[in-house]
Amino acid sequence: MILLLIPAAAVAVVIGVNYGWQWVLAPLLAAVLLRWSIASLRVLVTDAKHLEAEAGGAAPVGSDERTLFWCEECGTEVLLLVRGTSRAPSHCGQRMHERTEIRN
Ligand SMILES: [Zn+2]
Repeated sequence: MILLLIPAAAVAVVIGVNYGWQWVLAPLLAAVLLRWSIASLRVLVTDAKHLEAEAGGAAPVGSDERTLFWCEECGTEVLLLVRGTSRAPSHCGQRMHERTEIRN
């Protein structure tokens, strides 16, 4: 990789000196933006795969306990009937807090 970088840098200096540095910097900026956007999309795909793998284990919550999720921001409480994933739902832009009560 370093062996490729040295001739590429030499070509970039020749192009920059003769034709202007915008012909060197613009493709570099485009490559950085392309890599960043592809990496962002890849994160979304891996996150969705994580949810997909957990979806098979959806199971009703047992009758001996009651699980509530509450929002710290507005006070909304949600009763959990079927657990699909281990992740807490979001409300007001943040994760809700889990509270499990054991029934008699
Ligand atoms: Zn809320």
